[in-house]
Amino acid sequence: MSDNVHTPVDANRLARERSYIEGRLDLSRLLRLADLLVDDSGEVSYRVQGTTTETGHPALRLDLHAKLTLVCQRCLEPVDVSIDTRRELVLAENGNAFDPDDGEDDDTDVIPAAEATHLEDLLEQELVLSLPMVPQHDEGRCPVLLKREQPDGRVSPFSVLQGRKGQ
Ligand SMILES: [Zn+2]
Repeated sequence: MSDNVHTPVDANRLARERSYIEGRLDLSRLLRLADLLVDDSGEVSYRVQGTTTETGHPALRLDLHAKLTLVCQRCLEPVDVSIDTRRELVLAENGNAFDPDDGEDDDTDVIPAAEATHLEDLLEQELVLSLPMVPQHDEGRCPVLLKREQPDGRVSPFSVLQGRKGQ
């Protein structure tokens, strides 16, 4: 199987043959995503595995791994976010929708097979969906806030009390 996601693939065939495509994509190629990034150097590694669901539908299982630099919504400084996502996309024939909740889990979506021919678009869409709604540093880890909270810069209620004692 080719590792080229830039040319159209037959997603149904991929599923039927249970073959896979894997590789890496430069983040700078993913224009919709790049808008959200502080730094679009780096890449996303992916694997698209053809498979069949328990209910017998052809499907693609997407695995994505990337380290992205987003803007922390608390301090507006860059924050590194690791993306580790797996999603199953069930392939529906065009105009032949079916209930996606028939025994599949939450990480499952149904898409028209025709939409799955452009894997690069598909991967980018999944990556955008995997981004945290509010990217931010871990609690108390914002570099700017940390500086502001240095002990010498802050007035502790205890030091105020101590000051009063001496009066
Ligand atoms: Zn922050």
